[in-house]
Amino acid sequence: TQAIRKESEPLSNIDEKLEPILAEILLRNAGEPEFHQAVREVIESLGRVIAKRPDYADHALIQRICEPERQIIFRVPWVDDRGRTQVNRGFRVQFNSALGPYKGGLRFHPSVNLSIIKFLGFEQIFKNALTGLPIGGGKGGSDFDPRDRSDGEIMRFCQSFMTELYYHIGDKTDVPAGDIGVGAREIGYMFGQYKRLANRFEAGVLTGKGLLYGGSRARTEATGYGNTYFVQSMLGTKGHSFDGRKVVVSGSGNVAIYTMEKIQSFGGKIMACSDSGGYVVDENGIDLELIKEIKLVRRDRISEYARLKGTGTHYIRDGRIWDVPCDVAMPSATQNELTGRDARTLVANGVIAVGEGANMPSTPEAIRVLRDANVLFGPGKAANAGGVATSALEMQQNASRDSWTFQRTEERLAEIMRNIHDTCASTAEEYGTPGDYVLGANIAGFVRVAEAMRAQGVI
Ligand code: GLU
Repeated sequence: TQAIRKESEPLSNIDEKLEPILAEILLRNAGEPEFHQAVREVIESLGRVIAKRPDYADHALIQRICEPERQIIFRVPWVDDRGRTQVNRGFRVQFNSALGPYKGGLRFHPSVNLSIIKFLGFEQIFKNALTGLPIGGGKGGSDFDPRDRSDGEIMRFCQSFMTELYYHIGDKTDVPAGDIGVGAREIGYMFGQYKRLANRFEAGVLTGKGLLYGGSRARTEATGYGNTYFVQSMLGTKGHSFDGRKVVVSGSGNVAIYTMEKIQSFGGKIMACSDSGGYVVDENGIDLELIKEIKLVRRDRISEYARLKGTGTHYIRDGRIWDVPCDVAMPSATQNELTGRDARTLVANGVIAVGEGANMPSTPEAIRVLRDANVLFGPGKAANAGGVATSALEMQQNASRDSWTFQRTEERLAEIMRNIHDTCASTAEEYGTPGDYVLGANIAGFVRVAEAMRAQGVI
């Protein structure tokens, strides 16, 4: 325990009854820093819950929620375009099924390991609970790097990945979707392989599908639109809006692109966006059509933007995008991309709100800095829940063999995001910390899952 404590941060905010529980969980999952970070944040929020509900301790609910129901790790062999055999590692962590079938994305990125998949799966449990829809939590992926791979290589990898994943999923068991590195193309290849192996058109086994074979309208846009709705609600509590505001959105993938689209429609000005190589600033506001052309059509680097656009734009390699002054920051790239130092810069530049489009993009120190400065802060498990919520709407459409209009789907999404916002806000108030969306999200999500688990016995 001593060593683990040294490895992570001091347990200062932890209720004394929860301290030994956290210490045991950290020890049991040694060497998994991202998972530690996610668990610690949730447990830090639970002091007041345990004070109100001492019976939770008798049922070891925290310990059970922190232990995945099942973890699958598998070999993914495939042959590249030069005829060489490659081997990657595949993961699926089926974390919690108290509220519904496991649900959560697949991430293909070279950084993927068990710690990362477990932190994502853990966050997914509470995020999915907050949507109010019947979905449990899970996550998967591979350390496969899709960058610079041909379409044929992507397809063969996806087919091999699904050849094993096939045994573990199903529309009533576990329903994967996309995440970083997995979009409609990859979901299409995986769905095709699943259909061959099963000899069943089981549309509800994956979400994020193409519209021609069971996908939902607005799913592609949902995470970014949803985060924008969430931040709009937070701003509304202080009488603010996006209109005329300067906004910085990190990333330039699916989440970032549709965040920028919705913010522009609300009258906000996007000052900068980024990819893993650097960031681009456009004093006239980012030209989203050009970003879409570069990232979605050409699958090229963001540095192209400055080259093609010229005056008023500049590209900064390896810099900190959070140095660009803004009123609202929307971190939509990856975990721990916004550090304590970045948060201090944002605060010094007068930021009023931060909405997490990515999962756990802010470090614990960054959250502390923003909280101390009274910045409106929408944690990912609430603010970016629109993606998975719309996946659940896709499952509904698949189960009823229906296909909704864009407008109907987006209206449901907006309503769900409003509900999530209000649930987090009212829970924070109920537990004596008004305006603390981190606490509100963690407590509201936890209590729903804990209650369902208690009702289902020792599972
Ligand atoms: N990967 C997304 C998330 O982090 C969506 C998951 C899904 O649609 O199942 O929530």
